[in-house]
Amino acid sequence: MRIDVISLFPALFPGPLAESIPGRALERGIAKLHSHDLRQWGLGRHRSVDDYTYGGGAGMVLRPEPVAAALDAVRGEDGFVILMDPGGERFTQARAHELAGRPHLVLVCPRYEGVDHRIRGMVDLELSIGDYVLSGGELPALAVIDAVLRLLPGAIDAASTGEESFVEGLLEYPQYTRPPVFRGQAVPEVLVSGDHAAVARWRREQALERTRRRRPDLLVPAPGATDSGTTPDEHMPGAVPAGVDAGTERDRRAGRRGRGRRDDDADRWDAGSGPSDTGAG
Ligand code: SAH
Repeated sequence: MRIDVISLFPALFPGPLAESIPGRALERGIAKLHSHDLRQWGLGRHRSVDDYTYGGGAGMVLRPEPVAAALDAVRGEDGFVILMDPGGERFTQARAHELAGRPHLVLVCPRYEGVDHRIRGMVDLELSIGDYVLSGGELPALAVIDAVLRLLPGAIDAASTGEESFVEGLLEYPQYTRPPVFRGQAVPEVLVSGDHAAVARWRREQALERTRRRRPDLLVPAPGATDSGTTPDEHMPGAVPAGVDAGTERDRRAGRRGRGRRDDDADRWDAGSGPSDTGAG
């Protein structure tokens, strides 16, 4: 796979992708990552890339010409162009799998208030990594590339990506390592029983239970589930409301004021002595 990134801060790549799993994938040549300085396509003597927003308002907007020129230069025949945008499709593991099957990704990372709207017609997909606003598209792009790299054949043991969270639409079951007893908390007995079928059953039940408790929205099929490239305007209406509604409903049921769900579902509780975690087996 080839990955091109277009950014005003190309030195942010490979950044964290140089270490560990993504680092090894890049080192082995499973994927090649190229980052490009958007400024090289900037306008005039000052290589200008941004300007004031029409209609007034705070902040600068990236002009369309430099971004278009960058795309013309790097997308080639098979480049699948992704614009990082808080209003894009919410990035999911299903989308990561879909992207991992493509030969060439091009990620555009705006800064400031984002990019001139007329660029959207030149992109194949807009992706958001969550409902919050970061200062630029680089961190979101790093997150997307990391999720994709670890799925490429040869990046890691296929068995580990096959059992992770979200793979079957469920969160992962609890994991333990040594010691057998930590601060009074024992490892669930079934895991040391040597009974592989019982272990598999327990993990399945735990995965279901954790998903039901923490992410009931995952148990409902998402509208507009993503398995192919869509045009930006097709995917956006469906993507956000599903998660938002589920979250709101969950919070209402729990009588919570805020949106945080870690209050009663924190890892500490999950890994603790709750009957569903340690009593089975
Ligand atoms: N004014 C924009 C936000 C600009 S933030 C708005 O209200 O939507 C600057 C850039 O950071 C965005 O153009 C996008 O590329 C990136 N960015 C910020 N938050 C993001 C997120 N949650 N997911 C993906 N990209 C994001």
